[in-house]
Amino acid sequence: MLKVEHVTKYYGDFRAVNDISFEIKEGEIFGLLGVNGAGKTTTFRMIMGLLDKNGGKITLDGKEIDYSQTDKIGFLTEERSLLLTKTVLEQAIYYGVLKGLTREEVETRLDEYLKEFNIEEYKDKKIKELSKGNQQKIQFILALLHKPKLLILDEPFSGLDPINVEMFKKVILRLKSENTIIIFSSHMMEHIEYFCDSLVILVNGSAVLEGKLSKIKKDYRKKNIKVIGDIDVDTISKIKGVVSVDKKREEYTIKIEDESVTKNVFKALSKCDNITKFVVEEPTLNEIFIDKVGESYEK
Ligand code: ATP
Repeated sequence: MLKVEHVTKYYGDFRAVNDISFEIKEGEIFGLLGVNGAGKTTTFRMIMGLLDKNGGKITLDGKEIDYSQTDKIGFLTEERSLLLTKTVLEQAIYYGVLKGLTREEVETRLDEYLKEFNIEEYKDKKIKELSKGNQQKIQFILALLHKPKLLILDEPFSGLDPINVEMFKKVILRLKSENTIIIFSSHMMEHIEYFCDSLVILVNGSAVLEGKLSKIKKDYRKKNIKVIGDIDVDTISKIKGVVSVDKKREEYTIKIEDESVTKNVFKALSKCDNITKFVVEEPTLNEIFIDKVGESYEK
């Protein structure tokens, strides 16, 4: 298990991370979210033992993470850290040997992953000859070569086409099923919703929302009513507790303050003709994120 307990980080007088805590079990995918500058990279770097903290504790299986334990961690970042003039194999040997593997182990594992990612023909090609998406695949493979116990994925789908996104998703789910602890960071909320069991949202280094995604959604007061039919937008908009009424193609989304507003909307709609759909839905993570981050900025 990865445990982050009351961790704080200052750069000079500036507090970049403020007393954050969370834990992630084996086989769980945890979302670390925040706007630009919220403190995500700082948190990753502290977890990897690359940056000292000013307070708190980070442990992997009960042991404080320091440089000696970083062999258990794999990291895929948005920035490319590949050596462009090296071949894929040379690069893999360089990274793999650093992580304590033999050349033979590296080559065997590299072959398996190149096959899984469908790029076997690039083994002896120089990195600079590869497309951006294929370079991203190589970065991902390098993060996995030493079979890390903890895998940190920072915007892993950046630059990938939809087919390759699906391929990455499949591999990530396989790693989850093999009990890898995974931290996933992305600005694409649909990816977080797809993968993450739990999450934290950081604003200015502090956690403004933390917990299980299903509970966060359930507990969130605001809901959306999806309606198809000829509705009187003006009347619905004036109901107390209705935040907005929007239409996308033939479907209306009526945002409400909380579930208690549903009955008044339902009553008003019962006077309308041709209602073929009336469903109360939980808000999307995107809505919750925008709401929570906005609220915190206003404070
Ligand atoms: P992004 O999504 O843009 O990558 P982030 O959430 O990863 O952002 P961090 O890179 O952790 O954010 O930065 C958090 C804050 O700390 C920012 O205000 C940033 O300017 C500041 N910061 C980061 N590194 C340093 C540093 N070496 N010295 C001083 N301030 C820093």
